[in-house]
Amino acid sequence: MTEKNIKPTQPAMPDMGDYIKEISSIWETGILTNNGEKAEKFRQMLLDYTECGNADLFVNGHSALLLAIRVLGLTGEVITSPFTFVSTTNAIVQNGLTPVFGDIDESYNLSTESIEKLLTDKTCAIITPHIFGIPCDIEGIGAIAKKHNLKVIYDGAQAFGTKVAGTDISCFGDITMFSFHAIKVFQSIEGGMLAYRDGALHDKFGLYRNFGITYGECGNDVEAVGINAKMNEFQAAMGIVNLPRLDAEIAKRKKLVRVYAERLRDVPGISTYDYDSRPDIEYNYAYFPVKVTAEYGRSRDELWAWLKENGIGTRKLYDKLTCDYACYKDAGYVRDTGYADKVKDMALDLPLYGTLTETEIEEICDMIKSGVK
Ligand SMILES: *Cc1c(COP(=O)(O)O)cnc(C)c1O
Repeated sequence: MTEKNIKPTQPAMPDMGDYIKEISSIWETGILTNNGEKAEKFRQMLLDYTECGNADLFVNGHSALLLAIRVLGLTGEVITSPFTFVSTTNAIVQNGLTPVFGDIDESYNLSTESIEKLLTDKTCAIITPHIFGIPCDIEGIGAIAKKHNLKVIYDGAQAFGTKVAGTDISCFGDITMFSFHAIKVFQSIEGGMLAYRDGALHDKFGLYRNFGITYGECGNDVEAVGINAKMNEFQAAMGIVNLPRLDAEIAKRKKLVRVYAERLRDVPGISTYDYDSRPDIEYNYAYFPVKVTAEYGRSRDELWAWLKENGIGTRKLYDKLTCDYACYKDAGYVRDTGYADKVKDMALDLPLYGTLTETEIEEICDMIKSGVK
């Protein structure tokens, strides 16, 4: 019998020949970075794909989120979800803002009820992820923001390709950040994008992404305290050849999710996110999250370890709330995290990627089923 070796995640790769063809012109232009023609071509393709109106590219998602917050010039408190990758919280704190941690609901996203509870006269924004590519309550958050004059920045790092009521997810809030990191549904090796409503931000992003330098005839000046967050041409080339493959990648994942849902339906103590519960959403199927509850007879950690022993890699996303990380836990930030505190002990992310086979999913599900105690 061959040993199973199912990886928790795998990058969506383009055809190698296509990539080599795309990068070959870089040897002719000699332009490797600094807003080259590949980056501009990729940006145009993304504008076409998302129809979001305004978009800029960055070296990675985190830098993009940092600058999204910076250009809005926010001060005070930001309501956010602690059930996320630490980047969301870091970007808030790195901008000198105070995170206020709200609770999540069954969608794993920040609950509007909790937001309402946490509003103060210092609240300036809601900055929160569409976690696992599952959209937040966009309407509810929009209504609260409007009523209280708050900015909304979505961390859409995991949500590229998702649509709500036929509209691309990049079109909601003031700004949405996307990550094109290697293991996101859509990758450009590393990469980040901001989609935004106010076209006047375009020049600011260009400035802040390149150290804040302005180029004059008689010399340069630095107008803003910027960083280096430019996307390079090799990243852009990867994005250019990968973007036409995205819809097929999502379609494959959707098929695999159906197999998971069918096979895990009757397993006691395994509760799956119901991808059919919101027919207005076209998901990107970034993740397949499950909750391991008491009826399973093993804890989430035990199931994770047991699957690992049997050659199946899964991820505990997220087994710690960001407010509980060492660098934040003693900061005294306000938190309303009753349900999130429970979910962090139950959540397990099963393997999901385009090159995974239905047979592998059946094996994973059979193993999970046979592990019930
Ligand atoms: C991946 C991710 C980021 C960071 O994006 P990078 O491109 O890796 O910098 C931020 N937030 C969330 C929720 C993510 O999943």
